[in-house]
Amino acid sequence: MNDSTYREILIGGSIALDDVQTPQDSQQNLLGGSASYAGLAAQFFSQKVALLGIVGKDFPQEYLELFASRGLCIDGVERSEEKTFRWSGQYHANLNKRTTLSVCSDVLESWKVKVPQALRQSGVICLANMAPSNQKDMLQACQHREKWVIADTMDLWIDTARDALLEVLKETDIFVLNESEARMLSGEYHLLEAGKRLLDYGSSYLIIKLGEYGSLLFGSQGELFRIHAYPLANIVDPTGAGDTFLGGLAGSLSLEETLTFGAVVRGALRGSVLASFTCEDFSVRRLEQSSILDMEERLDDLHAMSCWPLDLSKGEKTSL
Ligand code: AMP
Repeated sequence: MNDSTYREILIGGSIALDDVQTPQDSQQNLLGGSASYAGLAAQFFSQKVALLGIVGKDFPQEYLELFASRGLCIDGVERSEEKTFRWSGQYHANLNKRTTLSVCSDVLESWKVKVPQALRQSGVICLANMAPSNQKDMLQACQHREKWVIADTMDLWIDTARDALLEVLKETDIFVLNESEARMLSGEYHLLEAGKRLLDYGSSYLIIKLGEYGSLLFGSQGELFRIHAYPLANIVDPTGAGDTFLGGLAGSLSLEETLTFGAVVRGALRGSVLASFTCEDFSVRRLEQSSILDMEERLDDLHAMSCWPLDLSKGEKTSL
């Protein structure tokens, strides 16, 4: 494989225009989509990240230039004559819940995934949120991948394309979904039970995202770990936080030689911190302006906040 065309991470998903309403503000035509957030997050760890997706003729050139300026390869981003996938959402008062107001997905519905030959042997394959049939096609084309498969999904696909999603999970190493989706797919309310059930679908590792509360990580050998989200004083727009988490995880894993539970924990911590940047402004604005040093600073803070300040076995007094 020609080293200059080899990609350490290939990310497939939606590339969208978002209209977002929060209790404070409302913004239109924002760069959105699962692959956009994941790609920009993965790029913190590797200069060899490629995007796979489709946009319409209305997709602003400046957004393609933004990807290119961050070093993302867009050879796998197709241009269609239809309109770009557009998602419109409104957040409730506490920003924890949102309602999808409208979705215009013509371009995604007719999309036949085409993976350029040069991208088929990529390292980490990241199936960001898109129809499971598209995820399957992407996997099929990447049979000679060098590392691991990470997959995300959403309630819509659990509802409408469950069988295809289960097929994807048979080939997935790390499966990521949120709390309500985990309950929905597993049929179990209790997350520990849900985790066990979901691992039976085939992945070696599972991450259940808990929004502002962090995430729960499971391994098929019984491993369990809980990580906290980075606490934020001012959340502007949480859209894309999950996708950013996924891309950060993929990026971090591209640095690993072997897939272990420790590698997944490291990736989830990095993904979690990157997701905190995404929440601090609309679209990818804050993420785009953040550096590796910013990420490392927050990782150190999160580490300090997550460690117990006393030794319980000695019954020491603490100043806290
Ligand atoms: P998140 O906040 O992490 O759940 O992701 C929000 C992003 O997902 C937005 O930028 C949307 O454009 C994108 N999105 C919403 N619905 C879909 C869908 N059905 N398929 C793919 N991407 C979607």
